[in-house]
Amino acid sequence: MRWLRVRWRLLRRTLHELRGDAELKKLASAASVQRIFWAAPVLAAGNFLAALGFSLRQVAAGGQELLWRNLIITANLAVSVISALIWFLAWKIKRPDTSAKTQTIFVYAVAAFVLAGGLVITLIDQLVMTSITPFLLCVTIVGTFYYLYPHYSLVLFGAAYLVFRRALAVVGSASPNIVHSNQVNGLIVTALGFALSLLSWLHFGRTTMQERTIKGQQAKLRDLAYRDPLTGLPNRRFLDERIRAEVSVVKGRGTEASLIMCDIDHFKKVNDTYGHLAGDDLLRELAALLRENVRADNTLVRLGGEEFVILAPGASLEEGALLAERLRKLVAGHSFTVCGNEVRITMSIGVAPLTGAENVRDYYNRADRALYTAKEQGRNQVVVAS
Ligand code: GH3
Ligand code: MG
Ligand code: MG
Repeated sequence: MRWLRVRWRLLRRTLHELRGDAELKKLASAASVQRIFWAAPVLAAGNFLAALGFSLRQVAAGGQELLWRNLIITANLAVSVISALIWFLAWKIKRPDTSAKTQTIFVYAVAAFVLAGGLVITLIDQLVMTSITPFLLCVTIVGTFYYLYPHYSLVLFGAAYLVFRRALAVVGSASPNIVHSNQVNGLIVTALGFALSLLSWLHFGRTTMQERTIKGQQAKLRDLAYRDPLTGLPNRRFLDERIRAEVSVVKGRGTEASLIMCDIDHFKKVNDTYGHLAGDDLLRELAALLRENVRADNTLVRLGGEEFVILAPGASLEEGALLAERLRKLVAGHSFTVCGNEVRITMSIGVAPLTGAENVRDYYNRADRALYTAKEQGRNQVVVAS
């Protein structure tokens, strides 16, 4: 019983995986188009060589053999030409701007064409032999090469088998026993093709899911590494990178940029009066207020504690000082709500230019020294680095 239950659960999980989602189907079609693009020229060349090979063969004039040879040459040439056309279409369709629907229709049309090609050549072969190798080959190609959605794959292989069965009964010139044997073999072959197709789909689905999970985790890690969890603002690591990038712009294009370092005055008092959690609320509110009042191309980060830094690209030292003064006034005039209490705070601000001649630490140091001077001179003011 337990064994059965475990099996049943496994089967249900596999069936669920087989279903996939719209995104997976889209990716599967795109990947199949890529595969068709690489395989089509091989098919075109292979069938052309086959046609050439058969045309060089000497057969007795008249009779079945000549008919067979001419038909095989024609079929191979036709498959070769159509494969070349498919190659061209795949080249057009594989572009990412092609709609998923077009790509999907193309993939199933090609799969149907390959099955039909194998079927036609097998039927022609029945003129002189009893083997069904071309059909077996094409079923294997379709089963392993393209990523087909299980429902459609079932329809495709089911239809291929039914047509094969019927056509063999009509065309097969061999004894009824051989026709029957070939029909049974055809059933086994198409069932095998369908099974291969399911396995390909499962494999594709699993690897895609794994890739998705890894990408999601990478994004999460990046977020953890670059974001301050309390305020949701980027952190110092992020700013370091932005400063380095901006310094190379300043050097390369001769533009200007300013670093603005803000520190809340007597923040300890807020914590002491209302508690640490209330202090956290205030920091969040301040972060939101600053974010709303700096330009989108400015980088606002929480450096740590009650310190916030703004990197203002393109801002001269004078413009940086103006922005700092605007923010200082804004904060001084804002009433923060902390645990139902109205709280007022002020900020001291140091402004330093990004000259392009120093390293990242030096810029922080200069802004920090200016900030220290602002504190020393009585707080709630902006000081520009000398
Ligand atoms: P000053 O005007 O000289 O800057 O005085 P201050 O009290 O703001 O500065 P000080 O550096 O002495 O203290 C900073 C305080 O900020 C101390 C610490 O408890 C508080 N603080 C740092 N990080 C956090 C935080 O994440 N949440 C809260 N609530 N408080 C924090
Ligand atoms: Mg402070
Ligand atoms: Mg501080």
